[in-house]
Amino acid sequence: MVIDCKHVWNFISDYLDDGLSPETRDLVQRHLVQCEICAAILDSTRNIIVLMADDRVFELPLGFSERLHNRLQAEMSTPPNG
Ligand SMILES: [Zn+2]
Repeated sequence: MVIDCKHVWNFISDYLDDGLSPETRDLVQRHLVQCEICAAILDSTRNIIVLMADDRVFELPLGFSERLHNRLQAEMSTPPNG
């Protein structure tokens, strides 16, 4: 059995959820190694799932702790007022 891109697209969410039978999974995997389009779709689908499941949204902005650290160092190296 050979599957084409449309079949793979139907299988992608189940593929990522480990919901495919070993035979189907194997077919999808074999298609993915030779089809850039489906590999790209798999990648972006996986990224979307990761983003949705990812609670790093609530992390501090990039560079924030570094700026805070620099600020603290500057404060500590400044002589006290008086
Ligand atoms: Zn394909």
